[in-house]
Amino acid sequence: MNQHLGPVTVPDSARLGAVQQLCDIADPYDHSDEALFIEAMNESNRWHAERSPFFASLWDGRPIDNVVEQPYVHANFFKMHEVLSIPRADVAVHATSSGTTGQKSQMFWDSWTHQAGQRMVARIYDHYGWIDAREPVHYLLYTNQPTPSVKLGSSMTGQFMTDFAPVQSVHYGLAHTGTGHEFDAFGCIRALQEFADSGLPVRIFGFPAFLSFTLDRMRAMGLPPLKLNERSLVLFGGGWKSNADKQISKTEMRDKITDMLGIPDGRVRDGYGSVEHSIPYLECAHHNLHVPTWSRALVRDVKTLDVLGFGEPGYLQFVSPYITSAPAQSVLMGDLAALHAPDECGCGAKTPWFEILGRAGVSRNKSCAIAAAELLKGKS
Ligand SMILES: [Zn+2]
Repeated sequence: MNQHLGPVTVPDSARLGAVQQLCDIADPYDHSDEALFIEAMNESNRWHAERSPFFASLWDGRPIDNVVEQPYVHANFFKMHEVLSIPRADVAVHATSSGTTGQKSQMFWDSWTHQAGQRMVARIYDHYGWIDAREPVHYLLYTNQPTPSVKLGSSMTGQFMTDFAPVQSVHYGLAHTGTGHEFDAFGCIRALQEFADSGLPVRIFGFPAFLSFTLDRMRAMGLPPLKLNERSLVLFGGGWKSNADKQISKTEMRDKITDMLGIPDGRVRDGYGSVEHSIPYLECAHHNLHVPTWSRALVRDVKTLDVLGFGEPGYLQFVSPYITSAPAQSVLMGDLAALHAPDECGCGAKTPWFEILGRAGVSRNKSCAIAAAELLKGKS
């Protein structure tokens, strides 16, 4: 069995029994036990209220009956404040969001939160058959080449991602230069050519912008398309960040990858996650972001903050009781999204999915509010 699928135990089994039970559900897309989810949220709220004066001031102490009643913290709050529900000595991982401008969120995870989160990713991998020891694979990680001082959440994810198929080789797209990190297109092209020659599967992870730039460079240089092993896999995370002005649509991106690298469309998946609320959201084979078993998603009206129904655009709110180290069990994101019913996808997953309509701060010249207003124009 993969090391990340093993048992993980909550910090206090007596106080967090429902959290344990919820997180022990192995099926990654099952929302059938809503009562257990609510019980786990109430345990989580009590846990944080007792340990975090900040959360105690936010919650009236009444147990919730429905996820809609769950109080939330704005993701930006974590950019301005370091909030913990555990003593500093219990911090196992200190992660920093990978935003390129402005303030970065600082998040602190205890070993339970960190390992439970990794187990969620492992179960999603297992669900899609991506825990595969049949042959070693080449990894191309569009993340920072690690240095001893690195704290970026995305880089840690990069290293963890190599635990699901044996490593033949690892190439980092953002090379460490001694003073920082630099995107190295020629190094990436060389690595991809060698991977194609070897015939082994390739797994490419990280920021989509850099793979896009690599493929553009190949085309500009007149290099022929490569035919990578068809069991290769591309998983994106982290968005386009400071390269938002060069962003292409997900469909264009997948077409470019299939054309230039020969990787089938169903094996190119985007992900959505945030340091502030680190539940993994990964596209299904139909490229929709279903909400996993251990989490719920709501969409709130941008003006009234009322909870909206399926298909209506607003701010995305994530709710999950598993985070014990900081009061991030319910976070309102700056991103705009719409929620959709499970059967609107058709892939067979039984949980709702969300569509990101706009990233917070994608434009460097406009405030998020103006960008949001523009995105919503004509949609209401
Ligand atoms: Zn689906």
